[in-house]
Amino acid sequence: MPPITACNVAVIGGGAAGLAAARHLRREGHSVVVFEKESEVGGIWVYTNNTEPDPIGVDPTRPIVHSSLYASLRTNLPREVMGFREYPFTAKKTGQRDPRRFPGHKEVFEYLKDYASEFGISELVRFETEVSRVWRSGSGKWEVRFRNRNEEKEEGFDAVVVCNGHYTEPRIAHIPGVDWWPGKQIHSHNYRVPEPFENKTVVLIGSSASAVDISREIASVAKEVHIASWSNSNEENATLPGYHNVWLRPMIESANEDGTISFPQGFKISADIILHCTGYKYHFPFLDTEGIVTVDDNRVGPLYKHVFPPSLAPWLSFVGVPWKVAPFPQFELQCEWIAGILSGRISLPSEKEMMKDVEAFYDSLQASGVPKRYTHNLTGYQFEYNDWIATQCGFPKTEEWRKKIYHATSLNRKARPENYREEWEDEDLVLQAYKDIARQISCKQAT
Ligand SMILES: Cc1cc2nc3c(=O)[nH]c(=O)nc-3n(C[C@H](O)[C@H](O)[C@H](O)COP(=O)(O)OP(=O)(O)OC[C@H]3O[C@@H](n4cnc5c(N)ncnc54)[C@H](O)[C@@H]3O)c2cc1C
Repeated sequence: MPPITACNVAVIGGGAAGLAAARHLRREGHSVVVFEKESEVGGIWVYTNNTEPDPIGVDPTRPIVHSSLYASLRTNLPREVMGFREYPFTAKKTGQRDPRRFPGHKEVFEYLKDYASEFGISELVRFETEVSRVWRSGSGKWEVRFRNRNEEKEEGFDAVVVCNGHYTEPRIAHIPGVDWWPGKQIHSHNYRVPEPFENKTVVLIGSSASAVDISREIASVAKEVHIASWSNSNEENATLPGYHNVWLRPMIESANEDGTISFPQGFKISADIILHCTGYKYHFPFLDTEGIVTVDDNRVGPLYKHVFPPSLAPWLSFVGVPWKVAPFPQFELQCEWIAGILSGRISLPSEKEMMKDVEAFYDSLQASGVPKRYTHNLTGYQFEYNDWIATQCGFPKTEEWRKKIYHATSLNRKARPENYREEWEDEDLVLQAYKDIARQISCKQAT
């Protein structure tokens, strides 16, 4: 074994990914500074009523609100699946806590604060410190420029781990004619409560978990809600079962000067608001890699296994880029891998081999007709990916119950979009999960 090296590492962001990075890097013996622009850990789970002045987020000079949570948001994954493997997300039965299997957002925030306190992470975080530039200096060190209380400083590090999240920069649908359409537009990033939609006719674009939640929530106050999505066929014009004022529509054809919205086959409605539930863009405004890492049609690349740019590895890495995954347990593995590679305990292939792997991956996506913007969508193979990293780290593979509950929840969410958080049929798996978690806790207490 080569000697273990301790590095000086900058982590950008104190959300779930940054906390996991700090935990695993420090456990490996590295020294860590976490830069966090807000005053608390938790990232996207720090709910705020504030929204941005530009409701669709196209103005690059707008003040940024990081969180995209709405007031009523509950998790779309059950807590057994969602939690870190090392620190299960079990229900706490004290008065202030939310013990539900799919808890509200505040409970996730509390859990992340518990995680930070369990592993002494907060002391590593520089709060209210926004990173404005990261670049490699001539000496090969990584320079980080940051601003704290109007004071700008620079500091050098051996390595940088990017954990800035990717649910803040709105992606909006392209709608022909929308610039002349007189109605209002808003992206779900700036959606908090349904009241502003009272008595309005709303066209909501999208079919993600947020689109499902928000469409139902605004239906309770809006005059009409029309859910436009590529996944609805051109013939689709039925009401949503159980709702008299929600219609499923195909994707919008155009928005018109007279206030109407046109759909295929000549169908038109007069609408007040377009609500874009159309996802987010990767955005690294502080990162200067001299063009080595780019974002092209929402592909961050080149990244070996969604983590390392081959020519800058292992000194620059990214945590949390994949989507359609259970994020926290994946962050843990990516962070353990990065920490072990930086110390020399785990090795990476050569730059050439990593690049070949990335190119083969891109070729396979292209051959299957997968657009670039789905490069980091791990639908169907997140656990295979996690298990590959786990093997690199000498970690056990994902628990079978976690895989099965994830799958059962996806099916249940489709079958019962309104009440999958209250009704489920995987009780036997939940029992298995809690048996395993209890065994894990008693092993930990014994050591
Ligand atoms: C509406 C919604 C619902 C979701 N529901 C679930 C769910 O039910 N279950 C689940 O597991 N996941 C869910 N997710 C996914 C969620 O994003 C992840 O769970 C996870 O919290 C992401 O963590 P992160 O650390 O990668 O990013 P974030 O939580 O976004 O944290 C990034 C941090 O970086 C900081 N930062 C950014 N730029 C800078 C800078 N330049 N300088 C300093 N600090 C900076 C930010 O302030 C922030 O604290 C949901 C996401 C959204 C948007």
